[in-house]
Amino acid sequence: MKFKRAFLSLLLIFILCLSMVGCSYIENIKQDFGQKLATAVQEKNNDGVNKGASQFSENSLTERNTTSLNGKLIVHFLDVGQADSILIQQNGHNMLIDAGNNADRNFIVKYLKNQGVKKLDYVIGTHPHEDHIGGLDAVINTFEIGSVFMPKVSSNTKTFKDVLLAIRNKNLKITTPVVGSSYNLGDEKWTILAPNSSSYDDLNDYSIVIKMNFGKNSFVFTGDAEALSEQEILKKGFDLKADVLKIGHHGSSSSTSDTFLKSVSPEYAVISVGKDNDYGHPHKITMDRLKANNIPVYRTDECGTIIAASDGEKITFNCKPGDYSYSGIGTNTTQNSSSNNISSNNVINSDNKAAKTETKTNNSANVIISNIDKKGEIVTITNKSSKDINLKGWKIISVRGNQQYVFPDYVLKAGASVKVTSGNKPGDLIWGEGNVWNNSQSDPGELYDSNGNLVYKYED
Ligand SMILES: [Zn+2]
Repeated sequence: MKFKRAFLSLLLIFILCLSMVGCSYIENIKQDFGQKLATAVQEKNNDGVNKGASQFSENSLTERNTTSLNGKLIVHFLDVGQADSILIQQNGHNMLIDAGNNADRNFIVKYLKNQGVKKLDYVIGTHPHEDHIGGLDAVINTFEIGSVFMPKVSSNTKTFKDVLLAIRNKNLKITTPVVGSSYNLGDEKWTILAPNSSSYDDLNDYSIVIKMNFGKNSFVFTGDAEALSEQEILKKGFDLKADVLKIGHHGSSSSTSDTFLKSVSPEYAVISVGKDNDYGHPHKITMDRLKANNIPVYRTDECGTIIAASDGEKITFNCKPGDYSYSGIGTNTTQNSSSNNISSNNVINSDNKAAKTETKTNNSANVIISNIDKKGEIVTITNKSSKDINLKGWKIISVRGNQQYVFPDYVLKAGASVKVTSGNKPGDLIWGEGNVWNNSQSDPGELYDSNGNLVYKYED
C-alpha cells in the first residue's frame, strides 16, 4: 500500500516535471519563432506600412502546423480556354474561383459533379468580366452555395445581370471582399489580399486576390489583377511568398510585374490561357520573366486541366511544365495597338512601362448589334457612345453556326455604324465568302469586346 502510494506520488511528480519541461520547451520555440516573425514583419514593413503585419504572423503560424492536417488540398485549374475557373477541395469542402465563359457552363458543372461536389462553401467571382463569371449563374443554380464573394463593382453586360439574378433567386447575398479577412476551407486557410482601392479605371484591377495556406504550402490566386493592384498588395506588407502563383490576367504583360513576382517568389506558376487566343496571351514579357527566374510554368493550353495536390509539405502536378513559348498571335499587334480609353495615369513604375496596352471596355456597353439582315448577310454594328472606338479584336459570333468574325484594326466613329457582310455581299468589312446566317429562322448574334466580354446579344 505504502509502496503503491509512493509510486503514485513519484509518477505524479514525474508527470508534473515532464509537462513543465514540455511547456517551457514549446514556450521557447514560440518565443524564438515569435521573435523571428517580428523581425520578418519589420523587414516586410520597413517602408512604414504596418497594415497586414498581424495577418503575416497569423498566416505564418498556421503554415507550420502540418501534423494535424486532414487529407490533401487539391487545386484544379480547369481547362476553360481563354478564361479562368479554379476548383479547390479540402477534406470534403469545396471552393470555386471563377467560372469561365458562358460557353463553359456545362463543362464546369459536369466537372464539379464528377469531383463529387454538392456544396461549394465559397464561390469567388474575381471580377465581372465574362471569362471569369460566364458560368457562375449555372454553378449557383446547380450547387448548394455557402458564400459568394464579388468585388463592389458592376457591369452592364447580360452575363453580369444573369449572375446577380442567380444570386437573388437563391436568396444569397454577395460578400464584399475585405482585405486581410481570412476564412477556412477544412484545414486550409485563405486570406483576401485585394482589391485595396474602391475604384479603378480597369475592371481587371478589381480582381479579388487571395493567398491560401495549407500546412507549409501556399498558393496565390490573382484573377486578372494588373500591376496597379500588385503594387497596392506589395504596399500592404503581406507575406506574399508562395509555392504556386496563378499568373494574373492569362499571362498578359500588364500583370506579373517584376517586384510582385520576386515577392511571391513561387516554386511553380500556373497560367490559364486558351490556345491561339486573340490577345497574344501569354505575353513574351511575362514568359521571359518567368524563365529568367527559373520558375516552371504549367499552362492549361498545354496541359488541359491542371491538378495540383498538396499534402501540406510538398506539391505535385498532374502534368509536366511547358517551355516558355509565348503566343505568336497578337504579341506585337493586339496588345500594343492603340485602343480606346487607355489611361496613362495607370503606369506605376518602370516595371510595367509596356503594361497598359490593352483595350479598355468602359464604352463597350454602348456598342450594339443594331441589325442582322439574314437574307442580305449583313450585320450592322453601331457605336452609340460619344467616343470613337477601335474594334480591333472584337468579335461577332453567329451563335447557331458557332462562326465568328474578328474585327481588324477599325475605328468606329462616335454615332457611326459599320456593316459586316458575308456571302459575297458588299459591305464595309467582309466576314467571308460563305453564308453565315443562311436566311435562318433563329440565329442570335453576339458581340464581344476585345477582352472577350459579351457586350451585346441580338435576339431574333
Ligand atoms: Zn480574364
